[in-house]
This record gives sequence, C-alpha cells and structure tokens, in this order.
Amino acid sequence: MQPSALTTLGYMVTAIAFMFGIQLLRSPATARQGNRIAAVGMLLVLGITAALVHNTGNWPLIIPPIVIGTVIGAVSSRLVRMTAMPQMVALFNGMGGGSAALIAAQDFRTAVANGTAHPDITWAIMVSCIIGSLSFAGSLVAFAKLQELMPGRPLKYRLQSAVNGLLLIVILALSVYLIVGDQNLTLFAVFIVLSLLLGVLFVVPIGGADMPVIISLLNSFTGLAAASTGFVLSNDVLIVSGALVGASGTILTLAMSKAMNRSLFNVLFSGFGSTVESAGSAAGGEGGTIHPTTVEDLAPLLAFAQLVIFVPGYGMAVARAQHEVKELADELEKRGVTVEYAIHPVAGRMPGHMNVLLAEANVPYTQLKEMDAVNGDFPRTDVAVVIGANDVVNPAARTQTNSPIYGMPILNVDQAKTVVVLKRSMAPGFAGVDNPLFYKPNTLMLFGDARTSVAALIAEVKKQ
Ligand code: NDP
Repeated sequence: MQPSALTTLGYMVTAIAFMFGIQLLRSPATARQGNRIAAVGMLLVLGITAALVHNTGNWPLIIPPIVIGTVIGAVSSRLVRMTAMPQMVALFNGMGGGSAALIAAQDFRTAVANGTAHPDITWAIMVSCIIGSLSFAGSLVAFAKLQELMPGRPLKYRLQSAVNGLLLIVILALSVYLIVGDQNLTLFAVFIVLSLLLGVLFVVPIGGADMPVIISLLNSFTGLAAASTGFVLSNDVLIVSGALVGASGTILTLAMSKAMNRSLFNVLFSGFGSTVESAGSAAGGEGGTIHPTTVEDLAPLLAFAQLVIFVPGYGMAVARAQHEVKELADELEKRGVTVEYAIHPVAGRMPGHMNVLLAEANVPYTQLKEMDAVNGDFPRTDVAVVIGANDVVNPAARTQTNSPIYGMPILNVDQAKTVVVLKRSMAPGFAGVDNPLFYKPNTLMLFGDARTSVAALIAEVKKQ
C-alpha cells in the first residue's frame, strides 16, 4: 500500500471515529466512551500528521507547543470547577478559531510570496480568516464575561447593529478585493484586525447569562473556519471534522434556544439576561404567602414517601451539592422510597450540566429522567425536591402569556403532592422573573445553601 493511500485510510478511520464519538455523546451512559473514541481518532490523525512532517526538520518548532498545550489542557481540565466549565469551553473554542485563522493567514503570506495566490484558494483563506478571527475574539469576550473580568450585562449603544452590519460589509469588500484585486499584505492585516473587532462587537451586547448559547454558536463558527482551512490545505480530515463541529454546534445552538423558548435572533439581539445582576435582591414579584419549612419537618415527609423526585438546577451546581443529594437518595432508598431525578434540557448553565454533575456523584443513569419522560410521573409523586432550580420549574411558563418565559417547556413539579424548594432567598433565577410555584399551597420553602440544607436533611432522615 502506498503511503498516500495509508494516509487516506487513516483519515477515513479518524472521520468515522469522530462521527461515532458524537453519536455516543447522545446518551450519558455512552458519553465517556464516545469521548474516548473521538480522542483515539484525534491521536491517530496527529500521528499521521507527524509522519507526514517527519522529514521537514521542523521538530524543534513542533514538539514544544504540543507539550505545552497538552500540559495546559490536562492540568486546567483537572482543576476547573464544573460551574466554570462554560468559560473553559469558550477559551478552548477560541483557540480553535484562532488556529484556523492563523494557519490560513500564513498560507496567504506564502502564496503571495510565491505568486500562487489564486482565487481558487484565496476565497477559502478569507473565509477561514473572517470566521476564525471572529470566533477567537468573540470567545475571548465570552470567557471574560463569564469569568467576570468584564461586566456580564449586555453593553449596548445606539445604532449598534447598524455599526456591526457596516463593519461586516467593509470586511467582505476587503476580502473580495484581496481575492481578485491587489494582494497587499498591509490591507490583509487591516482585514484581520477588523474581523477580530467584529468578534468583540458581536458578543459585547449579549448578556453574560446567554454566553453558553453564544459559545455553542461560536463553536459552530470555529468548525466552519477549520473546514475552510481544510480546503486551503487540501486536507480531507480537517474538512470533515470542521463540518462535523459546524453542524453539531449549529444543532446544539438551535436546541438550546428552543428549550429556552427563544429564537436565536432573540438571543443575539435582545440583550436578555440584563436582569441577572439584580437577581440577588429579594424580589417580591407577584407576591403571596410562602410556607417556610425546616429539616425536622421535612425528614419524615421524605422518609415515609413512596416516590421522591429530585429536580436539580443551577443552584445545585453553585452549591456543589450533588454528592449530598446522592447520599440523601441512598438513605431514602434504604427506607424503600423510589427515587428519580428530573432533568430539564437547559437546567444549569450549559447543556448536560446536571447529567455531568450527577454522573460525578455516581447517580445511576437509569434514574435520570428527561423532561418528557418524567412529567407524567409528577401527579403520583409524593415529594418533588427542587434543588436550586427556578426557571425550569416555573409554572408561569405554562400560564402567564405576558411572562418572558411563556411557552418554555418546564418540569411540572407543581403537580406533585408536595413540592419542597431548596434555595437561599426569594431571588429569581436566570430569566429574572418571579416564580408562582413558591406561593402555591403545596409548596414548602427550605431556605439556605443547598449543600448545607441537604446535609442537614441526611442527618435528620437517618434519625427516622
Ligand atoms: P435558575 O438560574 O433559574 O435558578 C437557579 C436558582 O438557584 C436561583 O433562583 C438561586 O436562588 C438558586 N441558587 C443559587 N445558588 C444556590 C445555592 N448555593 N444553594 C441553593 N440555591 C441556590 O436555574 P435553572 O437551572 O432552573 O434554570 C436555568 C436557566 O438558565 C434557564 O432560564 C435557562 O434558560 C438558562 N440557561 C441555561 C443554559 C444551559 O445550557 N443549561 C444556557 C443559558 C441559559 P437563590 O439565589 O435564592 O439561592
């Protein structure tokens, strides 16, 4: 077999590994295996690339970045807290976009120097540079917002969309000129800087709380930039993997918007999430009588129930209460209680947030029930225990047509015989709206940090 045929075969195996890996990510039960298979594919393609560059004599330039990148990636992924995962993904995604743009830019310089900058290839270079730079700069802004290095609120000014639109037109005009006209490197540098600027201006007006959706969108941009760079380098595996990232990122973005009952247009241009900063206040909202409770009163209710459903949300992630929740579930199961976990598709702040946390606490996948599957169980549930969830259990989404979350599919916990809500105050969640659930006669409020509350509940249940 010729080396080129071997390389092609290797690329095909890699592409299949990526596709198979993504397919396995669809279920929490197979997600780790999917990750491993995709990682093996990545290792294979790195090996092939290394073999291809074997004789170039560039090893002193190639090895150090690989070692530094691997160490940074491995150490930071071990150290990062689950609540900080979205900004880490933003950073990694930005690096992907930046790399695609840099490789394309270098190719442009080489092609210009060699007199081979033909439109056949320069169009792909320009696409990589625009999308890659936009994704790089936008991801850095998303990272800065989530890491609170800059204000998370939407930063808006008059005619903002018009300015961004104008900037995009200038960038596109420059790219056309660079493809068919004078291939001036100074102009090319201006074109790159403007593309970076567009990335910043694109993300700045979007609220910090919407960043996971934006990161997913920028991730799909990075995929497209990588695919385009694949055309520049005539590298099939880069085209395929870039297209996979582009397609899956787009699907994820649309799925997240749908689960929040918002259009992508609304996410990009409404400045939603600007109320998040005020969420710490004790919002009175629609008001009514609330029913505070204590762990002493709750423990027998839980210990003598037949069916208890835990409903985790962002607050469980903040409190890092997942291990205590699992321990409480174990205690209840020892007493013959059936326990389930209700998972809303956008509970928390990133897709699969709750699945990952509960998997970390060794909750069996069979107990995790998706929204559509679990909603039918609530009417026969003795106690629904809401742990730091708010918007995803807000019945206003079903009933109040003027609510910003009206139409968002929710977990129907209010249909349970008793609902217990664990949170610290009456503050709203991400959407910044009051929650009528808290005032229902069958709802009990257990105020305090979720981890502390659940730990106290475990101690009380053990006494039953
Ligand atoms: P919410 O943001 O609606 O509510 C979280 C609640 O947790 C708050 O009301 C807060 O109340 C409580 N909380 C915070 N810290 C603690 C703590 N230490 N102990 C106990 N409670 C705590 O979360 P949900 O998961 O219900 O909903 C997710 C929201 O995020 C949805 O609106 C969704 O659209 C949005 N979103 C989700 C994305 C995703 O991919 N998952 C992406 C982007 C947005 P208090 O301060 O009183 O304690």
